[in-house]
Order: sequence, then structure tokens, then C-alpha cells
Amino acid sequence: MQYRIDSADRIEAVSSAWLEFALANGTSELTRERVIGRPLWDFIAGADTRHLYELMFHRARHDGVSFVVPFRCDAPTVRRFMELVVHPAGGGSIDLEGRLIRGEARERARLLDPAVPRTNDSLMICSWCKQVRPDKTWMDAEVGIATMKLFSVPRLPQLTHGICPVCADRVNKEIDAGGAA
Ligand SMILES: [Zn+2]
Repeated sequence: MQYRIDSADRIEAVSSAWLEFALANGTSELTRERVIGRPLWDFIAGADTRHLYELMFHRARHDGVSFVVPFRCDAPTVRRFMELVVHPAGGGSIDLEGRLIRGEARERARLLDPAVPRTNDSLMICSWCKQVRPDKTWMDAEVGIATMKLFSVPRLPQLTHGICPVCADRVNKEIDAGGAA
């Protein structure tokens, strides 16, 4: 599933696979007509995550460098291990591709289900690896739920997006090294 952004970070094109993926994951408002021309940043939550994307885009545009960065795109019942490929497309445009490496079925993780009602508490989730940080430690969503004793409560904390130190380090190294796609 691929998409392309223009020199001003607006979505220029999306593949049918990208739209099908968005629909399958419950974001039914994402038709092609509604996506084209919108800033990519409408779809990327969290200042730290945005910052890393900006660093990658800068390197891609100015140095013609491509990147491959692992990330997770989890749904409540599946862990998706993916790679993000960032590739300069000329004229300031950039091609982005999410490649599925493998998927793993999981017990339904309510924390990741947007339909579950939320409290006013917030819980940090890493945008890249989908680990959560209930206290000072990052852990899988399931472990976080157990740690917070939230197995049977009707409402869960809101998720706020950040990046864990392991992912920040890995993405920064990839940007510095200027990986090859
Ligand atoms: Zn992470």
C-alpha cells in the first residue's frame, strides 16, 4: 500500500490497497476524494513522531536518500510487523510504502479499539512499536492493561502518541546512516 506526498507534504496520490487497508481498519471516512490534497500531518499523531518524519523527508528531498524503517501497525486482533519505505520521487515529492512483513493474531486488545469508551486519563503509546508506558517502563499493550489492572473496566485511558527511546534511537540512526531502500 503506497501513497505519495508533494513538496508541501500534501497527499498527492494513494493506492487502492492503501484505501482498502484504511477501510478494513474502520476509517471509513477515508475515500480517495477526501484524502487527496490533505496535509499528511492530519494522519500522523504526536509531535515526536511528526518530527522524525520531517527529518526523513528532509534527508530524502535534499540528499536523495531512501529509508526503510520498521514499525508496527496493530489492530485490536492482530499485531502487524511492517516496514515503512521512504523514497524520493523527484520534484520534492516523496513515495511512502507500508510493507507488511508478517501478522500475528492476538487476543482482542481493547486498548487499541477506537470504539471502547475512554476516561480523561491518558496513556502514552509509541507510534512506531505500539508499546505503552503506564509508568516509567514501556511494555506491550496487553502487559500494560494487566499492569494497570484494567482487564474488566468499561472505560480505558485515552491514548496519546509519542515515541519510545528504542524506536527514537533506531529511526535516528537510520536517518543519520541514510539507509537504502
Ligand atoms: Zn517504540
